[in-house]
Amino acid sequence: MPNPSLPLYYDSLAPFREWFGGGVPILMYHKLGPRPRGVRLKGLYLDSRLFDRQLAELRAAGYSGLDLERLGGPEHPALPRQIGISFDDGYVNVLEHGLRPLAEHGFRAIQYIVAGAIGGGNDWDAALGEAPERLMDRAQLRAWLNAGHWIGSHTLSHARLTRLTPAAAREEIGASRKKLEDLFGIPVHHFCYPYGDWNARVRDLVAEAGYRTACTTDFGLNTAQTPPLELRRIQARYRSRSLKSLLRRLLG
Ligand SMILES: [Zn+2]
Repeated sequence: MPNPSLPLYYDSLAPFREWFGGGVPILMYHKLGPRPRGVRLKGLYLDSRLFDRQLAELRAAGYSGLDLERLGGPEHPALPRQIGISFDDGYVNVLEHGLRPLAEHGFRAIQYIVAGAIGGGNDWDAALGEAPERLMDRAQLRAWLNAGHWIGSHTLSHARLTRLTPAAAREEIGASRKKLEDLFGIPVHHFCYPYGDWNARVRDLVAEAGYRTACTTDFGLNTAQTPPLELRRIQARYRSRSLKSLLRRLLG
């Protein structure tokens, strides 16, 4: 269970330091760099200086970037000071603003790619009035991989999987993996549910497609009891000043 005295979002290590000892944390990021005008979900952008500071602090505390393969294997949960650095959607701004700090502090990270929108945009968000952002194209994804980082699947079209028919969900889950594997000639073992939208039926389709891990947006650490296709994460963002977190701070 999430500890009610913890902040809702990861901003710096201090409030999480002790709690992190109870399992393997995976941080969830989306976009790095300056926010364009008219952005609705401001919290999905992280200033690259803050990102740099977060990595420097983790590095100084002895953390290194978790290889998700290890959460599917028998070694887990003896993974002290491992932390997952994950990015959803595959934005160009992560390549532009993330590569240098990741290299400088020696962290490897995973980006979850919308396999049917490589070189495209966040149309699923833009349809709801969100500011458009570019997604990495093939060459940019190659550069990300060549820098030593990983990719996983985030479906073909950023689908809400629980709302699809089983056949359509199976296609989103399975064909996205095949597409990434064919394009880049590497095995793709990791999946991430768009919108954190999953249920047992969807999870079973992810298992059937042969993935070893899948990330949700459920808050928490990963322990030996956490099923590998139901991994928990902690959203990283700038310090929240929302009423909800203020209340939680006061009541916690
Ligand atoms: Zn997403």
